[in-house]
Amino acid sequence: MSAKKDANFATQCIHGGQHPDPLTGAVMTPIYQTSTYAQEEPGKNKGYEYARTRNPTRDALQANLAAIEKGDFGVCFSSGLAAMDNVLKLLQPGDEVLASDDLYGGSYRLLTAVFGPFGIKSRFIDMRDPANVEKEISAETKMLWIETPTNPMLNIVDIEALTAIATSKGIMSVVDNTFASPYLQQPLTLGADLVLHSATKYLGGHSDVVMGAVITRSADLAKRLYYLQNAAGAVPGPQDCFLVLRGIKTLHLRVQRACENAREIVKVLQNNNLVANIYYPGLQDHPRHDVAKKQMRDFGAMISFDLKEDTLEAATQVMKNTHYFTLAESLGGVESLIGHPASMTHASVPREQRLSVGLTDSLIRLSVGVEDVEDLVKDLEMALAAAVGAKA
Ligand SMILES: *Cc1c(COP(=O)(O)O)cnc(C)c1O
Repeated sequence: MSAKKDANFATQCIHGGQHPDPLTGAVMTPIYQTSTYAQEEPGKNKGYEYARTRNPTRDALQANLAAIEKGDFGVCFSSGLAAMDNVLKLLQPGDEVLASDDLYGGSYRLLTAVFGPFGIKSRFIDMRDPANVEKEISAETKMLWIETPTNPMLNIVDIEALTAIATSKGIMSVVDNTFASPYLQQPLTLGADLVLHSATKYLGGHSDVVMGAVITRSADLAKRLYYLQNAAGAVPGPQDCFLVLRGIKTLHLRVQRACENAREIVKVLQNNNLVANIYYPGLQDHPRHDVAKKQMRDFGAMISFDLKEDTLEAATQVMKNTHYFTLAESLGGVESLIGHPASMTHASVPREQRLSVGLTDSLIRLSVGVEDVEDLVKDLEMALAAAVGAKA
């Protein structure tokens, strides 16, 4: 049964926006695998005409997404970048987006290479200091694009401080909440106009689906996004909507366990004398630890670290010798992943620029999953030991 508005997070994950199927009473929303719907007579139907416009499985997911982000409207798209593409279509040529300078690579590419030629300008700035953001806002700035924690450096920006600046200047604020998930932070409650997800990551949670979502409290923005969803057509299929709905039912359990595992992994890294720097917002000496503590329920399950022997070869030895940490892009699934940003996700960023933000040649990124942490610890310790062996 649908969750009450005041229900807590886990209850929202499981019940938010959900109703037994009106036809059969099926407790789980069926996969309505249909492209069209029979009409009784021209102009008379049950609210469904064509599946690009509406599908009951998608409706159930959208209502659930709204509930878990404490919004009123959820709009889902065929990928995270398709969601972003539609959000950017809210702008006009001549408008400017101010985005964080440590941004998901695909978001950077969409802003610069796709929307740039259509006359939408983007500038990339350090958002860690709110005063810097305020200073950079120009007459053309129409949107703040915020990501926190960032990838792969795990920087934290103060959502409440930035959305307050945006609101005072009449600028739309968007938070890409992919890395945190709504279990850890709910940007709409901190003043954001729009929250965006790559549902491919924590929301789906099982590395078996690609999807994106936008959530808002604004009826006006929702109306424009539903219009674009139908008019531009980047909609997810009903099977994928079902998978994400199913994934969200355990979101709170998965993220909670992943955060606990991550804390243990950080301890292992701290005690290993091959490791140089550890990037994880839960560390007391993380430069924005206090902001993370204020706006997040826990510190997430993404960890980056680099090696004292700062070479690709040393990092490769670690990545080649893990058994449970699979070498792969993406994040947020039940299984642990290991990746090398310099050669994988951030290969297109010039080396000097990479180094200037701390993204060294040996930087390794972990997406900690929900396996037994003892096995993950052993796995990582063995891989690090193998890296020493190879050097000797
Ligand atoms: C993966 C990701 C995206 C893009 O989502 P897709 O579903 O891959 O299109 C956007 N932002 C962040 C932070 C991501 O990690």
